[in-house]
Amino acid sequence: MKYIIGIDIGGTNVKIALMDSKMRIKAKRIFPTSAARGKTALINSACDHVQCLLSEYGVSRKDLIGAGIGAPGAVNVRTGVVHYFVNIPAWREVQLGRIMQKRLKVPVFVDNDVNVMALAEYRYGAGRSSQNMLGIALGTGVGGGLVLEGRVFRGTAYAGGEVGHLQLSFNGPKCKCGSHGCLEAYAGGVYIVKAVAAAIRAGERTYIKELVGGDLSKITPEIIDEAARCGDSFAKSVWRGVGLAVGMGIAGVANLLNIDKVVIGGGVARAGKILFDAIRKTVKERTMKLPAKTVKIVKAQLGYDAGVIGAGALVLYELGK
Ligand SMILES: [Zn+2]
Repeated sequence: MKYIIGIDIGGTNVKIALMDSKMRIKAKRIFPTSAARGKTALINSACDHVQCLLSEYGVSRKDLIGAGIGAPGAVNVRTGVVHYFVNIPAWREVQLGRIMQKRLKVPVFVDNDVNVMALAEYRYGAGRSSQNMLGIALGTGVGGGLVLEGRVFRGTAYAGGEVGHLQLSFNGPKCKCGSHGCLEAYAGGVYIVKAVAAAIRAGERTYIKELVGGDLSKITPEIIDEAARCGDSFAKSVWRGVGLAVGMGIAGVANLLNIDKVVIGGGVARAGKILFDAIRKTVKERTMKLPAKTVKIVKAQLGYDAGVIGAGALVLYELGK
């Protein structure tokens, strides 16, 4: 039996899984990212946990095909260098692949976290049977990953697939990337929360305010979701607005690439039916006839484990398996 290690570096936690070559998880470890401790500490912890997993499960190095890593940021897949980590500004040009390979003594591959999530869904989740797929992660921000004709499409400088920064309007809200009117500025969790708080401050009457006891800093996408489920009309209109923005982004991608599937995951996607109905309606209305007909919009299947499964899938993908 051959094994693979998948490592998912998130903003809060690092998840490590030992999997077989079918990406069935055998054992898992989770530890806090704690950026303040520095990147060397993170790398040391990751290597220690990998070692523990291997000895716990009785796997020898020769049975380990390799390790894959999904990192939030810009990654050069060929060199394994993470140019920057989203949310950890101090970590720049980290030679993650090289260092980990030296320590673990197996092939190590690194890619952007949303690219590996898209690859996971494409190979093992909701994207199976798809030929051209867009994966969207709706979380704090809006991430994207493309798998076209069976290949992960990364672009010239490995910076492609950033569906969150498709431009939806000329003078929309400011986005953290420096531009205005990006999809993320309408549909990213932090932006949604900010817009809701501003509306309440301007006098909007909504159950959301009761749910947070009047403390607007406590608003989260989950709270907005809860209010919507209770029938709050403002909360419902928030999700319809997010669905409109995501749908417009998808319409652009569908018209450009004629993708057959869009797999949507991430915490914000838990808003469920009301959000997905709005996305599907917008895509139908705003996409040209043929690409509208051929694109299916589905929920991600792998959930919480998509990151580690994708990191493992990256190993097989890069080794041509
Ligand atoms: Zn942007």
